[in-house]
Amino acid sequence: MPAPLSIGTTLGLSGDLDAAFAPLRELQIPTAQIFPPASLDAEATRAAAEKAGVEITSIIAHFSGENYADIPTVERTVGLVPEMTRPERLAHLMELAAFARAVGVRQLQTHIGFVPEDANDPRYVPVVQMTQEICDDLAQDACVFALETGQETAATLLRFLKDVKRPNLLLNFDPANMILYGHDEPTHALELLYPYIQSIHAKDGIWPTEPNQLGSETPLGEGDVNWPQFGARLLELGYKGTLTIEREIGGPQKWVDVAKAKTWLEELVSNNQ
Ligand code: MG
Repeated sequence: MPAPLSIGTTLGLSGDLDAAFAPLRELQIPTAQIFPPASLDAEATRAAAEKAGVEITSIIAHFSGENYADIPTVERTVGLVPEMTRPERLAHLMELAAFARAVGVRQLQTHIGFVPEDANDPRYVPVVQMTQEICDDLAQDACVFALETGQETAATLLRFLKDVKRPNLLLNFDPANMILYGHDEPTHALELLYPYIQSIHAKDGIWPTEPNQLGSETPLGEGDVNWPQFGARLLELGYKGTLTIEREIGGPQKWVDVAKAKTWLEELVSNNQ
């Protein structure tokens, strides 16, 4: 278990695993949510994390064929909701569950896809049942299934959590996604969803300006999340989980932004204790 309010980052693992973990070691970031290596080599992953002094807190599942170009494309291609790709993606999710178990991680998370806003939509009940089955499988290893927020409103997500009704169905709450998908004001969503929040993405972004387009991700503190207000409220509610920085750009600028976000989050925590 990481220390309360440990800083983390999301981390893609490909190629040399030691090199992938190196920026965390340099920046003294103690935790990571990882996109696993294609090999799903649990032993090598665990060894590389240990060498870098990093605790892996979650395995992030993503699926081939996903496309985040615009909102209709996300709806068509992302997660476990699209029916055409569901069987192969469920099989991959179970491979990742086995990988999580082998690495010793008790959280598997993903964008499940757009949960239908209307509970009478014929697609709704099968998605609830599928999620119940995933949760029951993961419960055998005391593993949490954490949904990434953002592709539906907080109210829809809350109804879905209550309908699935599994204690290991929780949220990786991403306040920026609420904005990027144009769905909800993050602090309002936080109030509604707080009892289900298992982990947090420290990410920022600005509202979309065109219909069907996503907003734009920004460095922490430069977007519309209002992190001073959001962060203070999160801590006031008693949140003690990890604060996982997510910066979805490549290259060296990513780590410059992550370092700044880390300093900002450390100040937030020390100012609110
Ligand atoms: Mg996220």
